[in-house]
Amino acid sequence: MTSVGEEVQTFRGQVSAGDLGTTLIHEHVFVGHPELDLNLPHPEWHEDRAIETAVEGLERLWDLGVRTVVDLTVLGLGRDVARVRRVAERVRMHLVASTGYYTADVLPAYFQTHGPGLLVGGPDPLLELFVRDIEEGIAGTGIRAGMLKVVTDRQGITPDVRRVMTAAAQAHLRTGVPITTHTHAPSQNGRDQLAFFREHGVAPERLVIGHCGDTEDLDHLRELMDAGATIGMDRFGMEHVLPDDARVATVLALLREGYADRMVLSHDAAFFSRVTPPSWRARHAPHWHMENISRRIVPRLVSGGATEDDLHQLLVLNPARLLTRGPVAHDGEDD
Ligand SMILES: [Zn+2]
Repeated sequence: MTSVGEEVQTFRGQVSAGDLGTTLIHEHVFVGHPELDLNLPHPEWHEDRAIETAVEGLERLWDLGVRTVVDLTVLGLGRDVARVRRVAERVRMHLVASTGYYTADVLPAYFQTHGPGLLVGGPDPLLELFVRDIEEGIAGTGIRAGMLKVVTDRQGITPDVRRVMTAAAQAHLRTGVPITTHTHAPSQNGRDQLAFFREHGVAPERLVIGHCGDTEDLDHLRELMDAGATIGMDRFGMEHVLPDDARVATVLALLREGYADRMVLSHDAAFFSRVTPPSWRARHAPHWHMENISRRIVPRLVSGGATEDDLHQLLVLNPARLLTRGPVAHDGEDD
């Protein structure tokens, strides 16, 4: 009766998928840039203070009923799991780490010389990294990644983005860890991601097409869900992109059509991001934080007709189903 893994990897070890509880599946603890931090320090970044902010924030979030937060800060966004572990050790929240590479266009020069057919050669370092992060742990910490993340932005699937997506598909087929994506909703390139991953043997049911909440084009969203993918309504509070009222209306419309099992809710928020620092967020996106769904969005969904069962499906059952590792390609023992 068991699939390969009903256990989900977190910063504090394995947690049964049934114990994840209310889960925010697309968030960031800290988004940084180590090279810029060395050479162009951000005036709002103070590591110890940021850790206190994150600890306090996650403790408040726990009191609001959230039990698990997936940190989708992968390489390219300043991933530092040793730093996040300082937070994880002090909070009740389950934190899930992730692997992947965040680039909308090109990879760093290292990747242009390392890999099959390239100047220095050897195996593709991306695939090795992704599999090691999932199977052994990230950068010697023993913290194992529970999700793979790739990016397609307005540039579309560039050659380097294709390389990241290929490595993610291969790592997924070896490990069963789900894949989540960043999309540029106006380009509707979730469709291209879905097609790419299907061609590479990834079941749509193991995909979260992210940032779908940025669009109000229901036909596009239905198309992704009808193919089996789950869509990320994952930027609540990013009202500088689309107001929350519009995001709520989209979720309610799709709930009425029976799509409760194909959507997940989150914020894509962060306790600190160099890209949009806390002072900017406070002024321009005051609701863009991890408490927004609990405090403002759930009540609006309920008053719009969402049931307790709908909310349980969106916030508990769907994330648990996705984060459970699926059968792996080389495993013939699956029952
Ligand atoms: Zn994100």
